[in-house]
Amino acid sequence: MMRRLILVGAGHAHAQVLKAWASAPRSDVELVLVSPHALAPYSGMVPGWLSGVYRYDEIVIDFVQLAARAGARWICAEIDSMDPDRQSISLSNGQNLGYDWLSLNVGSTLLPPTDAPCAQMLPMRPLADLYQRYETLLAHWRSEADDQPLRVVAVGGGAAGFESLLAVLRRLRQERPDRVVQGLLMTSGSRVLPDYPARVQRVALRTLYDAGVDVQVNTVWHDSRDQGGDWILWATGAQSHAWQRDPARRGALAVSAEGYVLIDAQLRSVSHPNIFAVGDCAQWTPALPKAGVYAVRMGPVLSYNLHAALNGSSLRNYQPQRRFLSLLATADGRAIASRGCWTWSGRWAWYLKNDIDRRFIRRFSEADLFPRLT
Ligand SMILES: Cc1cc2nc3c(=O)[nH]c(=O)nc-3n(C[C@H](O)[C@H](O)[C@H](O)COP(=O)(O)OP(=O)(O)OC[C@H]3O[C@@H](n4cnc5c(N)ncnc54)[C@H](O)[C@@H]3O)c2cc1C
Repeated sequence: MMRRLILVGAGHAHAQVLKAWASAPRSDVELVLVSPHALAPYSGMVPGWLSGVYRYDEIVIDFVQLAARAGARWICAEIDSMDPDRQSISLSNGQNLGYDWLSLNVGSTLLPPTDAPCAQMLPMRPLADLYQRYETLLAHWRSEADDQPLRVVAVGGGAAGFESLLAVLRRLRQERPDRVVQGLLMTSGSRVLPDYPARVQRVALRTLYDAGVDVQVNTVWHDSRDQGGDWILWATGAQSHAWQRDPARRGALAVSAEGYVLIDAQLRSVSHPNIFAVGDCAQWTPALPKAGVYAVRMGPVLSYNLHAALNGSSLRNYQPQRRFLSLLATADGRAIASRGCWTWSGRWAWYLKNDIDRRFIRRFSEADLFPRLT
């Protein structure tokens, strides 16, 4: 009997599921991909694109091509709500779709204040929306006659705020050497990069200082008029999507207090075992940081478990790695590398990051999916 598996979201794990499916297609399953965008940026390369090192087309995975190769039907829409007890989802295009199995890899979002007088707001999530906003601001920046200094404020002291501020400053200064661009990193926390070892924090502060960035800790951003700022890079902590937080839209699906889908060791919803959830939208126990590295590492386990669930065989457990290599791009041809208590920064760390990220994205290119036999 034909069954339907719906993949919702063009996240890092679903890219791997589609790639694996393309090499081992199944005739007993109707595979559907629901995603509002054809192209999905790879988070690790976003700072490099912001700084101008990569073109946008170099950092995206083409999900339409990937879906076509996997024999999946792509529906260009967002999930709007779901009824997990009836095994159906409602989409932003008005369609209702039933499923046998469902997999959620919809990432997370940010809720910047809507009233940011005088300032151009650039939320760092969702990543797909960032492209249009950034290109529009850059076009304006290139042509603007104003010669006043521009002040760029990053709100959020985590990796996204740190990397994106350095990247944007580099790009703006490079494009308009005639204009003064000031940088400010503002965080409500007491430290920059609070989840990183003290040595990484010290190197990060020195890097910010070298780039002429002021740092304000224990400061809550409330208004660009009071606190200055022409461009605001909004990079506070990740939040779950509105439909996940709303009981009327998520139905009986079990979620954490913050709206993340609660999952078990096999990446299945704790309330509905025919629903899988991975990456930023899901919550593991204990909670994992919202980082792309987890979504990437969950991909192979998800892929295996979806097939196992369809076959009625045993599922695998996901084991989050306790330590992993973290590479923070500093937009000056260098990066800060850390693993456990080991930290290093320099050009080679950037070369390593560039190599790892380019290799990851190449796995989903046409050439790599279907190498020519010449
Ligand atoms: C500037 C920046 C830099 C970062 N750098 C790093 C880094 O170097 N290393 C790292 O580990 N992490 C990094 N992160 C964190 C990283 O972006 C996320 O943790 C990662 O993208 C999560 O992956 P994911 O697969 O869960 O979701 P995503 O990659 O966000 O993918 C989710 C997908 O779901 C889609 N979607 C959203 N809502 C819906 C809906 N309702 N219906 C259907 N589809 C939907 C989106 O369009 C998107 O395609 C960075 C974040 C930012 C903001």
